[in-house]
Amino acid sequence: MENNLSDAFKTLHSKLRDLVQNTLDPISLQVEKENKIPEDVVDKIRALGLFGMPIPKEYGGLGLSTLEEILLIEEITKTNACYRSRIGTSNGIGSMGIVYDGTEKQKKQYLSTIASGKWTAAFALTEPNAGSDAASITTSAVLDGDHWMLNGSKIFITNADTAHVFTTVAVTDETKGTRGGVTSFVVEKNMPGLSIGPADLKMGFKGSFTHEVIFKDCRVPKENVIGGMPMVGQGFKTAMRVLDKGRLTIGACALGASEKMLAICIDHIKQKMAAGKSKKQLQAAQFTLADMATRIFAARQMLYHSCQLKDQGENVTDKASMVKVFCTEMASWIADCAVDMLEEDGCLTCNQIEMFLRDVRLYRIYEGTSEIQRTIISRDLLK
Ligand SMILES: Cc1cc2nc3c(=O)[nH]c(=O)nc-3n(C[C@H](O)[C@H](O)[C@H](O)COP(=O)(O)OP(=O)(O)OC[C@H]3O[C@@H](n4cnc5c(N)ncnc54)[C@H](O)[C@@H]3O)c2cc1C
Repeated sequence: MENNLSDAFKTLHSKLRDLVQNTLDPISLQVEKENKIPEDVVDKIRALGLFGMPIPKEYGGLGLSTLEEILLIEEITKTNACYRSRIGTSNGIGSMGIVYDGTEKQKKQYLSTIASGKWTAAFALTEPNAGSDAASITTSAVLDGDHWMLNGSKIFITNADTAHVFTTVAVTDETKGTRGGVTSFVVEKNMPGLSIGPADLKMGFKGSFTHEVIFKDCRVPKENVIGGMPMVGQGFKTAMRVLDKGRLTIGACALGASEKMLAICIDHIKQKMAAGKSKKQLQAAQFTLADMATRIFAARQMLYHSCQLKDQGENVTDKASMVKVFCTEMASWIADCAVDMLEEDGCLTCNQIEMFLRDVRLYRIYEGTSEIQRTIISRDLLK
């Protein structure tokens, strides 16, 4: 697979590896404690072009394939999850709707600013009564002259605090529901009627925030329907297509975290051996290490293979769900084993394993819970 990657990509990958090892990881626990990524560190991520990984080159992005993007995400998640989260929505759910279905004018207007990292894009779908069942959203958009009037509330919106634009999904015809009655909009943060609630106090992802986003008679220009007026009513399809790719991304996040946790465990066991413990005394730990490495190997193969299929134009909806459920549940299992393996150190907050344990749990919730992934997989099997 490596042979198919360009030299330019390999250089970028190795620059990111250096950034992770020399800058991001050494301050990982400090970021955790202060609940903030220093702005000069965000600048370094920006300088590598990582805010625009999948955005086509003609709109200022890196134009990476799915596989290339996933390789970078795997690398950047071998440390605190908040770094990936800071760039994640701009690369994925926040901007991909515009990439897939936006008009040429929308692409020119928004994508280069997002790709440069000057603007952050967020994605507003979830509502207090519509999480897994996204089809139950009630945020409404009513045409009023040259504007749409949006009313409703979206919750758990990642990067709402730093976002300049929100890809927002709203109901434009409740009689049609998701079959022609839901529309996606690009809403700018300064449009009148949009406000942001306080940050959620989450168990993990310190340094990355989710907020409520409230639309109260929020006036959005008519031309801000993603894809323009012919796409009115077609926004649910756009949102679901965006989520397909997002699931591969979360698989890569869980894989990167798992690889780092395995490395921490290997170091720990080697130290025990250096301190005089025999291999026989450490046999249980060795078997667990072997199982961790085996699952990581399987996860990597299914992730890369699905990305390659997606890059060849295949529909990977079921595979993306399999990747998400397998990789994220593997990461939680590895975190749990790692807490045991590190003995008394495993539960200390001065140790990254405790951070990973909380962070990887969240990967099982957003962009579709494990139950929802299993529903998608079995629906395909039984149709
Ligand atoms: C860190 C984080 C970041 C997020 N970022 C964003 C964002 O940027 N934009 C955005 O729009 N949303 C975001 N979300 C919201 C996220 O997508 C939802 O939390 C998720 O879809 C689950 O919805 P819910 O929390 O309402 O849970 P519910 O849908 O109420 O589910 C509760 C439980 O019931 C189970 N369940 C639900 N339906 C079924 C079913 N049919 N069959 C079996 N079990 C079922 C679920 O699996 C879950 O265990 C984020 C969430 C988190 C935690």
